[in-house]
Amino acid sequence: MARNLVRQDMNTPPKQSAVAAAMAAANGRKGHTVEAATPSKGHGSISAVSGADFFLIANDWAMIAPAMAVIYLLGVWAEGAFPAANATILACVATVLASFARLFIKFERVPGRSSVARHWAMIMGVGLPMILYGASITIWHLQSPQTPFVLFISMLVTIGLVTSITLKDRLLAVVMAQTSIWSSLAIASGELVAIVTLGLGSVFGLFAAVRQTKLDHIAQQHQQQLERALLRADEILADYEQTGQGWFWETDRRGGLTYISSTISKLLGGSAEDQLGRPFTDLFVMEATEQEGERTLLFHLNARSSFHDLAMRAATGEAEERWWSISGRPVYDSYSNFLGFRGSGSDLTEKRRSEQQVSRLAQYDSLTGLANRFQMSQTLEKILNAPHLEHRSCTVFMLDLDRFKQVNDTMGHPAGDALLKQVAERLQLTVGNMGRVGRLGGDEFQVILVGRNTQQILADLAVRVIENLSQPYSIDGSRVTIGASIGIALSPNDGVTSEAIIRNADLALYAAKDRGRGVHHFYDPDLHSDAEERRQLEQDLRDAISNGGLELYYQPVVCTTSETITGFEALLRWNHPVNGPMSPAKFIPIAEDTGLIAPIGEWALRTACRDLANWPESVRVAVNVSPLQFANPALPAIVTNALAAAQVSPNRLELEITESVFLNDDAQTEAMFVALKRVGVRLALDDFGTGYSSLGYLKKAPFDKIKIDQSFVRGATVPGNRNGAIIQSIVSLAEALHMETTAEGVETMDELDLIRTLGCSHIQGYIYSKPLNREQTELLLSKPDLSITANGPRSARSPRRTMFRKIMLEHEGNLYDATIRNISELGAMLEGLWDVPENIIFSVIFADDCKVNATVRWSNDDKLGVAFHKRIEFDASGRIEIARGPKAALAVAAVPVEPLRRVG
Ligand code: C2E
Ligand code: CA
Ligand code: CA
Repeated sequence: MARNLVRQDMNTPPKQSAVAAAMAAANGRKGHTVEAATPSKGHGSISAVSGADFFLIANDWAMIAPAMAVIYLLGVWAEGAFPAANATILACVATVLASFARLFIKFERVPGRSSVARHWAMIMGVGLPMILYGASITIWHLQSPQTPFVLFISMLVTIGLVTSITLKDRLLAVVMAQTSIWSSLAIASGELVAIVTLGLGSVFGLFAAVRQTKLDHIAQQHQQQLERALLRADEILADYEQTGQGWFWETDRRGGLTYISSTISKLLGGSAEDQLGRPFTDLFVMEATEQEGERTLLFHLNARSSFHDLAMRAATGEAEERWWSISGRPVYDSYSNFLGFRGSGSDLTEKRRSEQQVSRLAQYDSLTGLANRFQMSQTLEKILNAPHLEHRSCTVFMLDLDRFKQVNDTMGHPAGDALLKQVAERLQLTVGNMGRVGRLGGDEFQVILVGRNTQQILADLAVRVIENLSQPYSIDGSRVTIGASIGIALSPNDGVTSEAIIRNADLALYAAKDRGRGVHHFYDPDLHSDAEERRQLEQDLRDAISNGGLELYYQPVVCTTSETITGFEALLRWNHPVNGPMSPAKFIPIAEDTGLIAPIGEWALRTACRDLANWPESVRVAVNVSPLQFANPALPAIVTNALAAAQVSPNRLELEITESVFLNDDAQTEAMFVALKRVGVRLALDDFGTGYSSLGYLKKAPFDKIKIDQSFVRGATVPGNRNGAIIQSIVSLAEALHMETTAEGVETMDELDLIRTLGCSHIQGYIYSKPLNREQTELLLSKPDLSITANGPRSARSPRRTMFRKIMLEHEGNLYDATIRNISELGAMLEGLWDVPENIIFSVIFADDCKVNATVRWSNDDKLGVAFHKRIEFDASGRIEIARGPKAALAVAAVPVEPLRRVG
């Protein structure tokens, strides 16, 4: 029984303290540590094991004094008289001493009190009053032999009972109290048996008390461990809740909250107690739940099934959305009665935000912020799969930057990135809300326009985009100019699947680039064969490089005044195994796109130098250098090697460079000029005036020669044309800078005369010679004085002949009558159609199977001038011939006829 009492007594207070500690921790108060529950140190062998709570004297012991007095007075009442004074005095002293019980209790419980002092306190507080009381009753009995013995026995038994009750589980104190109270009577009886029995009882009691104390000690330690574990769990949970990593909740069987972490109750506004009883579902904005059907929280709560990681929008009323991940499971008691739900929650907001960030990254191009390839293809897919047919029309622009690679290669990637950002901005601005703009990667962009648009609208937009993107950019203080090409495909006309549309827009883009870049091109089914042809050409070009299928031709460059050959321009020739001779203007761009330009360029340099080694010392050779070669830092070494291998001096080699290398007027370009000059080669600025011309760099770059493009020469002889004036100013500029000038593409005597008067130092053109192969070149060089004579037509304008001949004009399926008034190889003046708009294209039908396309150049009243798309020829009898196929020519008699009626 004593053991049970011990258990009960010990069980209650420590649990309260653990809960209090947990609550304090939950409220953010610190300082409740596990040590707080450990026993205080310094007690003796027994008390030390007892711990601070386990005292020798129980609190109730304070009841003993009144009990003593009452029992004594009851004895007096039963006896009918007070005993002798000595007995009464002893009882009084015992009672007074017992009434100091609280003092002893207090004394004993002072922290740090020694075990000996505590045992003395027990002897004085419990033992002494009991001995005195026992002695008082014994004297009373001895003095009143007539009083039945049972009265005294019952008084002693009663007080012993009260002692045991008030001392409760303090077994040692109980043994001491019982021994003390009975000792006087035992001694007074003089019975050895009684004394021995009492002694034995005391010893046994003492033994039992010590044993019990030990058992209690073990039980208590066990209990403390349990408490510590509990407290630890409490604190860990509290910490977990406090750090905001997660929180806990519990509901009753009706779904009302019975527990909620204080962190969450605070978020919801109020204490944890305020939330208790509220429906669990009130914690969430239920409409915002994303899952459907079975996966909803309500479903699980109703079905009493457990759920994991449900994303729920928190009903915290905060401005910013908060999301929780909620897990829970139903709780049942041992009789399988449903008690409610218990579970945990954690904050999803950050995770969701980073998920959104990730999905943004997955959908948008991080550099430009435009939609990326994935997002664009999704957009296109969505349009093409729209439920209604009429919503599926769209247009795709494929856009590729021209010369972007050069900027990236020469100015570095950061500059390239900066450029792409500006391009993205301009593109977005130009397209506006007409369409969606995306970057597919590298310098590839895409625009998707929803709905039907006329070709005209699309063409206008494409032109605007190219124009805006071709304006100069400022990158790190440098001026950079690039271009753009656009391929356009429309759905449903050009395809109804995204693959088809994209492929066709790509093909159109290739075609645009093929047309010389900076233009747009609509998809055309013929492009498929073009693309195939291009792929084939690329393969053939690779074969040509490895099989020696390329050849260098040389075109003489002639000194204007002495008419002697000063050098040659080396020009690539490729005799294609199937297509025959192929123009470098066609295969050089392919070589540049595919990187084949590097081996081709190096081969040209080596071959030109090797051939030059056999030619007279005064003759130079000029080799064309692609901007891509120019961007290669190894170029000076390649040039040096070629010169060294052929043993020719560097000043006999001229490198022709086009203006596009200045698009990025950065340090690397300048360094390349310096390096090439250090090698000792001459530099010529090729195709001057065709590209993006800035005279500024002429001052900086160490050119030895400017080559005036043939487009300036062409037309310079036509009266009123300003090309002559331009050539003249280029010549003066070059002279001022001590540079030579070469006029390119001189074909006629008139042009030659003019160039001479304009003062160009050198001339290169068919008027002296077409490009020649090595043997022909060496034949030309066999003349010791290297002289050469001009040989060509006087003027470029083909002779016109007058005629009256009825013909038909066809335009968009309609036929019109007209009359030829005069005609040349290149065009004709017609009569019979009024106010025809310029640039309209007709088909001129000379006979059923003899027609040629022609563009209207001008129109005046009923007369119009047209330019033929193909040169026509007249045979000796004046019949018109149009080349058709390899050699076939159709002849029509050009018989003069009367003028015919006018057709409006
Ligand atoms: P380019 O550097 O402007 O070369 C001059 C072009 O004009 C040559 O065309 C030449 O045959 C042509 N030409 C010369 N005189 C006349 C004339 O009186 N009338 C006409 N109508 N044309 C004339 P070609 O050989 O077809 O070369 C075209 C372009 O291909 C060259 O233009 C050059 O840019 C490029 N190219 C040629 N060879 C090489 C090479 O080895 N490397 C590089 N990177 N490009 C080359
Ligand atoms: Ca050239
Ligand atoms: Ca040229």
